[in-house]
Amino acid sequence: MKRDYYEILGVSKNASQEEIKKAYRKTAMQYHPDRNPGDKAAEDKFKEAAEAYEILNDADKKAQYDRFGHNAFAGGRGGGQGFGGMNMDDIFSQFGDIFGGGDDAFGSFFGGGRSRGGGNNRGTRGSNLRVKMKLNFEEIAKGVTKTIKVKKHVKCTTCTGSGAKDKNSLQTCGTCGGSGQVRRVQNTFLGQMQTVTTCPNCQGDGSTITAKCTSCKGEGRVYGEETVTVDIPAGVQEGMQLSVTGRGNAGERGGTPGDLIVLIEEEAHPHLTRDGLNVGYDLHISFPDAVFGTQVEVPTIDGRAKIKVPAGTQSGKIFRLKGKGFPHVNSYEKGDQLIQVNIWTPQNVTDEEKAILEKMSTSKNFIPNPEKNEKSFFDKVREMFS
Ligand SMILES: [Zn+2]
Ligand SMILES: [Zn+2]
Repeated sequence: MKRDYYEILGVSKNASQEEIKKAYRKTAMQYHPDRNPGDKAAEDKFKEAAEAYEILNDADKKAQYDRFGHNAFAGGRGGGQGFGGMNMDDIFSQFGDIFGGGDDAFGSFFGGGRSRGGGNNRGTRGSNLRVKMKLNFEEIAKGVTKTIKVKKHVKCTTCTGSGAKDKNSLQTCGTCGGSGQVRRVQNTFLGQMQTVTTCPNCQGDGSTITAKCTSCKGEGRVYGEETVTVDIPAGVQEGMQLSVTGRGNAGERGGTPGDLIVLIEEEAHPHLTRDGLNVGYDLHISFPDAVFGTQVEVPTIDGRAKIKVPAGTQSGKIFRLKGKGFPHVNSYEKGDQLIQVNIWTPQNVTDEEKAILEKMSTSKNFIPNPEKNEKSFFDKVREMFS
């Protein structure tokens, strides 16, 4: 079971970005591998904190996490495998942002961080891709794994994303010596300051290309198709978005790929309706069945169910099948199926039927006489949704 990201960093759900950043700094300091050499538990905690920070520091990802919990990223992270998607290099590259600035105590403590990451600044990040996915009620109720074909930029296989024609045409940048960064000494009102900026010669790649790959014209990616498997958790709703990390467009020259954003669409069901977690069904029964009582089969999102309609059931009566609604996407909560009884009024009658009905219409039993304690329509609706 994965731990809650807020719990990992020890912050509340309402914590500001600044508080989240501070909490991550503190946790990362505590479990940093340089301080806990050979300690596997500390390394796991260190990775766990980095993953939590990666999500909570990103407004979009945080919003998704708040809504779906860990399910929001189920598709991209190898299904609850923990920190499957993050390696130490990814984590150290985070420090560039959070512990940046050489005059900072943290900066020197984590001084080795960036260079270990080596090559993380390569290329340009690929853009996110959005796809729509239509799901029927059954798929939403149980959760489903979908395999889809996505047309997008994929890594060029000829040059494995480098953009170079061959090994010899990829040369270490002479300006920055391959680090992708250059140091500059600037005079400021505080005196001389050293700043680190992206190398202007190679744009941070650390290498330059003397001959371009002919398949991708040096871009490191080509337009193609990829088969992507998306795990949809049970209980999603129309309009929800799930992101599959790293399955968007490939980056240029080996850059990080974008994410695949899956927009959920609900397919209408022929008989059932949805209201949040609850499922609605209109049951039509005949007048004699309402008088004598009957047993009927109704469709549910999980096969068919039998219900008993007692003798003397009034039109508008609502039966509840507890727990037969949709599951909540991020908890064990489940909705109900609500079945509303409608008594069918014949629109054509034969002479014989007409005679019987006329005879009955004067009978005392057929004159409407609602019981005093019979709840009104509005009371019933209020009760159902309270
Ligand atoms: Zn290529
Ligand atoms: Zn360079």
